[in-house]
Amino acid sequence: MKVTIIGRWGAYPAKGEATACYLVECDDLKILIDVGSGSLSQLGTLIDLATIDVVFVSHIHADHIADLMTLQYAALVDTQLKRRKKKLQVFLYDPEASISFEFPDVIERHPLQPSSKVVLKELNCTFFETNHNVPTLAMRLQWKGQVFVYTADTAYCEKLAQFAKGADIYLTECSFYAAQQSIASTHCTSSDVAKMMNIVKAKQTILTHLPHYGEQKLLIEEVKQLTNYAAQLAKPFMTMTIKGEVNHAL
Ligand SMILES: [Zn+2]
Ligand SMILES: [Zn+2]
Repeated sequence: MKVTIIGRWGAYPAKGEATACYLVECDDLKILIDVGSGSLSQLGTLIDLATIDVVFVSHIHADHIADLMTLQYAALVDTQLKRRKKKLQVFLYDPEASISFEFPDVIERHPLQPSSKVVLKELNCTFFETNHNVPTLAMRLQWKGQVFVYTADTAYCEKLAQFAKGADIYLTECSFYAAQQSIASTHCTSSDVAKMMNIVKAKQTILTHLPHYGEQKLLIEEVKQLTNYAAQLAKPFMTMTIKGEVNHAL
């Protein structure tokens, strides 16, 4: 299993980058997790959009779905040009069905619930409702015994940390600095992240959904004060493999 950071920002993308979007590759199966603002432009430099098999959407905040709306157009054009052979499979947590796709002929919609179990070839996916201000699912993807967990957006949540326990790769949101605890409300500060890391005990931890201000290196310093587990900041096109290798492509 290989995980690539496509977009690492919360709220809106920094210049030339994207908000939440992550590519997971299990052999030839290509999965996108969240499709934030700017993500397709970034992704197009790496892979052919027609090769994306599956999309998982954690919640319907715009910084996680903005480019999902344009991905449906890419799926339509690629299908018309016979570059896309199969429907794009979109699994989304949208209990109120606020999102509608214009081209159901090219997209197969699969509503998710916290109790959903999705099996794609040898990949097993389970979900956990996070502590956020709209319905949001964290995801645990297991493939050949290798485990990747994505927290999506959440405030501190001990049960979510239990759900993520033992992950090989733990991709966690970190929206605020430690000193901002009073305003973090529906997101994690670096202190929250560290406390959850002590429960998760992951082999690799990556901080994402980052703030647009301050010195981001401080997030890592603050995490280090509360845990002995190492963490890194997400960077564009950074890849992680289960074997513990981290390659900085940029
Ligand atoms: Zn967000
Ligand atoms: Zn959100």
